[in-house]
Amino acid sequence: MELLYPRKCVFCNEAVPMKSYKGILEKRTYDFLCEKCKEKIKDKYIEEPYCFKCGKQLDDETGEYCDDCRKMHHTYDRGLAVFKYHDDVKESVYRFKYKDCKIYGEFYGVQMAEKYKPIIEKWQPDVIIPVPIHKSRMRKRGYNQAQIIGKALSETLKIPMDINVLVREKKTEPQKKLSKSIRKKNVESAFKVTKNVVKYNKIILVDDIYTTGATIDACAQVLKRAGVKKVYFISICIGAGV
Ligand SMILES: [Zn+2]
Ligand SMILES: [Zn+2]
Repeated sequence: MELLYPRKCVFCNEAVPMKSYKGILEKRTYDFLCEKCKEKIKDKYIEEPYCFKCGKQLDDETGEYCDDCRKMHHTYDRGLAVFKYHDDVKESVYRFKYKDCKIYGEFYGVQMAEKYKPIIEKWQPDVIIPVPIHKSRMRKRGYNQAQIIGKALSETLKIPMDINVLVREKKTEPQKKLSKSIRKKNVESAFKVTKNVVKYNKIILVDDIYTTGATIDACAQVLKRAGVKKVYFISICIGAGV
């Protein structure tokens, strides 16, 4: 199968030769990136110092929080992102979500684990919950992208994933189409907790892109109302003031 359908580089979509992957998941027999892109993505990662709330990279070391988080209260507790909101990353996530490049999700999940394992383990989350998509979008796309990332993260860090706790009840406009002020309204009351979550004290949400945090806050709100104490998140990339 590998020979007939070679893996595509997550960043440039060119075919990648089969090779042993030397990451956390030893069983992999292919690389996620071509040699060129391995070099190219080095400066796309979020580096310290980053915002103590949303995980966005900060320009200087003087403050703990980014401008957005200083101005706005978030319901979630803390979050992290792997990459900066850069064109290459954006295009990769676009193919992942809309061009059936489902396999990319494994790369993203493993990247999250490799970059932030110590922090996530310190948080001691009971469970990983991917941000759900509406069932009509699920029918159209065939998969929830956040769930694919969540699965790879879950397998890598040995933290269970639960996809039956949170549902998206309201069909919302894609956030990227909306202005900052409308985003919050758009996702308010979009989510519902479907079963008893009291058994979960700490939850880590997984999503693809963090922009204003409205989606994560909306999830955190219903989860906390249902008794969850701490809600963290991790995303592939995070925007700078978008
Ligand atoms: Zn490439
Ligand atoms: Zn922030």
